[in-house]
Amino acid sequence: MLKVTKFGGSSMADAGQYRKIRDILQADPGRKVVVVSAAGKRNKNDNKLTDLLYLCHAHSQYGVDCTPVFDMITSRYIEIRDELNLDVNLEQEFALLKKRVDGKSVTQDELVSRGEYFSAKLMAAYLDFQFVDAADWIRFNLDGSVDKENSYELLQGLVKGKGVVIPGFYGIMPDGHIRTFSRGGSDITGALAAAALDADVYENWTDVSGILMADPRIVENPQAIAEVTYDELRELSYAGAQVLHEGTILPVREKGIPLNIRNTNDPEHPGTIIREKFDTEVDPHRVITGITGKKDYSIITVFKRGLTSEVGILRRILGVLEKHHISVDFVPNGIDNVSLVMPTAVVAPKLYTLLADMQQHIEPDNIEVMDQVAIVAAVGHRMAYRPGVSGQIFKALGEADINIRMINQGPDELNIIFGVDNRDFASAIRVLYNSFAK
Ligand code: ADP
Ligand code: ASP
Ligand code: MG
Repeated sequence: MLKVTKFGGSSMADAGQYRKIRDILQADPGRKVVVVSAAGKRNKNDNKLTDLLYLCHAHSQYGVDCTPVFDMITSRYIEIRDELNLDVNLEQEFALLKKRVDGKSVTQDELVSRGEYFSAKLMAAYLDFQFVDAADWIRFNLDGSVDKENSYELLQGLVKGKGVVIPGFYGIMPDGHIRTFSRGGSDITGALAAAALDADVYENWTDVSGILMADPRIVENPQAIAEVTYDELRELSYAGAQVLHEGTILPVREKGIPLNIRNTNDPEHPGTIIREKFDTEVDPHRVITGITGKKDYSIITVFKRGLTSEVGILRRILGVLEKHHISVDFVPNGIDNVSLVMPTAVVAPKLYTLLADMQQHIEPDNIEVMDQVAIVAAVGHRMAYRPGVSGQIFKALGEADINIRMINQGPDELNIIFGVDNRDFASAIRVLYNSFAK
């Protein structure tokens, strides 16, 4: 049995967390591969090392001395090392790095990757595991995708008999430069390691007991979901639930490796299991798996009499968006109108030229633009073919006086997505949670 484990930022925040990790690993001999993040926040007002590293790079780019920030970074790691009595010469590596930062010879990606690098060095020493650098096996292609075949083969060659610790978040480009994934990318490193080594399970250890039915910053103490399918997880993370980086799923899904989200601070809790499908379900009566969403969308609605019978008009409307390099999230429509739903940050800078183009190419009767819209998604594979779910959703929202701006349901009935005013976002999620959680 091989379990690849990944520990996120808060799980790596201080020496006490390192001790918890050692206990978790000792509790199961299958846990032999450990992927780590940079040290995260120890409390609400603390700093995440990755953020400090970005800050440090920005300072040096603008010619501002980054020594105070750099010292904050080094002291966090030295503190962990000293508290755990580890024999790792950090000072020498820090001094070399600082020289390169001052000389502007270190790229942003390389500098921020050092958060996970030092975490992994310390963790390897603490566990007496082999340190395997991500730069020695994660190979990016020129387009930024991962060359999985090559990377998997390289990792297989590097792992010797005992346990290994791998820094998350980065790999190298064909020219040897370090490149990071986007933020939260250590989850991907763990998934790649699990796939490369054909692990039996990929355990992703974080600070919550699995995927919760709703964002814990919105709903107080939401229930954890025991089982989630890969498809549901995709919908949940696309629509806003940021528990896992969305690039995590593909590598493990391709190999049929189940993913288990666990809580470092509550290791006995079974967390959430994610797989292709479940033959027998622990909770077959749960209609909605999760509720999630994002604020700050814009809806552009094009009105034109006879729109649905005009051949090619949708293509022309989408063609205008294509010309402006805008991808659209949802396209709900009525008989004489079609709406385009997109993040405001994407459309706002191009709005006026976009509207002018619509006027010219579509000749609509009217165009309306609505901002300050939040998208809320209720996700669950059991909603399919079950009548009355949308009725229950809209009844609950209506009773709470929440106005619905747009409704969209995919043909696979895996989700029901609707738009509400930004200011109703949190209450819409709470209302749905209270209506569907058991
Ligand atoms: P890590 O540092 O371990 O990678 P992250 O901060 O990336 O952890 O992800 C875990 C966080 O995701 C939780 O602390 C929680 O605040 C947030 N979160 C948002 N939506 C959900 C959800 N539906 N279920 C669980 N956690 C969620
Ligand atoms: N440390 C990186 C970040 O903060 C990667 C990660 O934690 O997954 O984004
Ligand atoms: Mg994360």
